Amino acid sequence: MRYSITDILIDSGLDDSPFAKRAVDNVRRLLPKATISTAHDTGHLKQDQFSKHVLYLLAYPGQFLKPCPGTTEHICCGYQILNVGTGCPMDCSYCILQSYFNQPGLRVFANIESGLKEVLKRIDSKPNRIFRVGTGEFTDSLALDPIVGWAELLIPYFSSRKNAVLELKTKTDHIHGALSCNTRERIIMSWSLNSPMIASREEHGAVSLRRRLEAAKSCQAEGFAIGFHFDPLIYYPGWKEDYLRTLDLMDKVLEPERIIWISLGSFRFMPSLKRIIRKRHPNSIVTNGEFVPGKDGKMRYFKPIRVELYSFMREHLEKWSPDLGLYLCMEAPDVWETSMGWNPVNSEGLSAFLDERVRKIFG
Ligand code: SF4
Repeated sequence: MRYSITDILIDSGLDDSPFAKRAVDNVRRLLPKATISTAHDTGHLKQDQFSKHVLYLLAYPGQFLKPCPGTTEHICCGYQILNVGTGCPMDCSYCILQSYFNQPGLRVFANIESGLKEVLKRIDSKPNRIFRVGTGEFTDSLALDPIVGWAELLIPYFSSRKNAVLELKTKTDHIHGALSCNTRERIIMSWSLNSPMIASREEHGAVSLRRRLEAAKSCQAEGFAIGFHFDPLIYYPGWKEDYLRTLDLMDKVLEPERIIWISLGSFRFMPSLKRIIRKRHPNSIVTNGEFVPGKDGKMRYFKPIRVELYSFMREHLEKWSPDLGLYLCMEAPDVWETSMGWNPVNSEGLSAFLDERVRKIFG
């Protein structure tokens, strides 16, 4: 992918850290025209809230591992977010990060190695629990990997633990760092997928679906477990034919083996995001259609539409393979029942289902 980064800012005190040094070396190689300066020296930068021109390397003061912010009204999967950074060099029209953060730039936490000590201590203190950990919530897990080397840094720590898995979720084909590691244990390489029309029209900066699937194929061939996320599913005229094209491509490129899970989620957003999407992406179609507010304040498609989206995807994915670990993201028990034919009852039930998938794939 092509970066639009022109400036790298490093918080004072971090310039000597191995993480920052590695990032600076990579920037010099990949983006030779980018300016590298210390963070107090920002006067020359003109940037707005959505700027993707500046990469900040800074220290994160909070806890690195936190539960995914689900809501009590919906069944949540019990995922843990490893907060390695915020912001993303890609620019999907529907990205919720547009309304999440009011700080500009791409922020990468250069004190991750010291933060990891605390995270691993927590994981090791609960040997009977499975920690499903991912970095792809507030950023894309691999979009900045050629610069910051997250995969090579994190994989050895998680591979060596029996009660954790690490999921690296992306819309890129930046798999070089992961493939260069000498272990594949307990690592899930996963891709966000959509219909070809949504991928090319709404996922600005992301690589094509074929390239994502080719990357998945390479990781699968190299022994990694893989996962997919159809989230957000978008309802528009012709969606069925379009999503079938993606499923056909999956069938052509991949074997349905060692797929740990495939999640399905329909487009949902806080009301404030709609104005931002219309302003920043005037040609986007994602806000077309009728949405109703849910109990968590987010706008969602009407329930019958959500059920139709999930039922259709389930029917066709299960024709490909009955063993894909399909699950719904942030849905109600009755929507599960009608579209998936079963219902995990609550978040604990969904966590148990996904933990079982981990045991099945990794033992
Ligand atoms: S890839 Fe993910 S994080 Fe990046 S802009 Fe798209 S939706 Fe947002």
